[in-house]
Amino acid sequence: MVLVWIGIVVGILLVVILIVKATKTNPREIAGMTMRCKKCGTETGGMTCPKCNKTFGV
Ligand SMILES: [Zn+2]
Repeated sequence: MVLVWIGIVVGILLVVILIVKATKTNPREIAGMTMRCKKCGTETGGMTCPKCNKTFGV
């Protein structure tokens, strides 16, 4: 019976891992493109653009 529980736990863990991976990759794939800066087009990955952030204060 212990092996059955181990199998169930492993199966649940695999499902959880797949869901986590899906939720991490979906936002970009749903948008159909990677997160890019609106000004220069540099891929920012959802973060502030490093190029425009430097020149912003100048
Ligand atoms: Zn930029």
